[in-house]
Amino acid sequence: MEKLWRKNYLNIEPYTAGEQPKTDDIIKLNANENPYPPSYEVYKTIAEFEANDMRKYPLSDSAPLRAAIAEHCSNLYGARLTPDNIFVGNGSDDVLAAAFRAFFNSDKPVMFPDITYSFYPVWCELMKIPFVTVPVDDKFMINPEDYAPENGGVVIANPNAPTSIGMGLDSIRRILDLNQDCIVIVDEAYVDFGGESAVKLLSEYENLLVTQTFSKSRSMAGMRIAMAYGSTELISMLNAVKDSYNSYPLDRLAIATGIASVGDEEYLEAITSMIIATREKTAAALRKLGFDVPQSSTNFLFVQHKTLTAKRIFEYTREKGIYIRYWDKPRINNRLRITIGTNIEMSKLIAALEELIAAECK
Ligand code: PMP
Repeated sequence: MEKLWRKNYLNIEPYTAGEQPKTDDIIKLNANENPYPPSYEVYKTIAEFEANDMRKYPLSDSAPLRAAIAEHCSNLYGARLTPDNIFVGNGSDDVLAAAFRAFFNSDKPVMFPDITYSFYPVWCELMKIPFVTVPVDDKFMINPEDYAPENGGVVIANPNAPTSIGMGLDSIRRILDLNQDCIVIVDEAYVDFGGESAVKLLSEYENLLVTQTFSKSRSMAGMRIAMAYGSTELISMLNAVKDSYNSYPLDRLAIATGIASVGDEEYLEAITSMIIATREKTAAALRKLGFDVPQSSTNFLFVQHKTLTAKRIFEYTREKGIYIRYWDKPRINNRLRITIGTNIEMSKLIAALEELIAAECK
């Protein structure tokens, strides 16, 4: 007889993250991680961290980190932020899940592009939120006018992933103007690599929530820190939801190292500039090899070769110890997402691709 608990299990298809290599000699370009180390201030903070403090719970409101983010991100994005405009969580996956929970409780469907971060539909399924996906055009562009129908909320990754394409603030503004009665979430996981932040629109739109992460531009994916920016009302709503399932998402070390990282604006500028330069060099080399490479505003490229299939390239580079990302999904199953690593890593990738093309494209 079937056990009742098996029937009661929430049967859901989870999000699949990029493969984690089992050995150290792999060039890992499949999870949009930063190839450079975190700020030296982070190293110093870890060295000086008082392990005995771990006896105690962390501050449940992460107040010093929120204050540091408010101060530095006001400078960075030309906005006037107070700590009450900042919510923090355990990576943007945690922040976005809290936001879906808090704000998407209508019978009307939430809208997001058909090609975007594949965690959005997973959260909708998990939380029983109705949703519709809106096709991007054949150049992967999002048309703001498509978000006019009545809905229960909108989520836009800007720059979008995995397409790498950024949209201007005029388009974000248009989506906000069309959706004044519901929450518009702008997921800015990659904004520091050349995107335009909607944080500066916060003073004009009380329905706007912007999320960002320390995982990409700040090289701290393993520490799990992210933030949402919004009106004091939205942030207090998010805190109420957080305090209803986990009061202490950020541990003491995450709070301390987050403060250290956010204060080092020079280092952020230095490593993002290096990644942007490597991205442009890699994009040019790939185009020469016959790849279509949309203009990226992120730390990755979304490419398609004129003759070789994405699957073949994925399998070949994997054999050569270079991991890139491939999805066997409609509309994108002939594209690859390649994270920008160091110049040396990208040269090795290009060399492997040259070999493959020489051997198989006669
Ligand atoms: N949003 C987008 C668009 C992403 O690509 C990712 C990275 N997988 C995330 C959010 C989540 O990042 P994290 O939880 O590491 O902050």
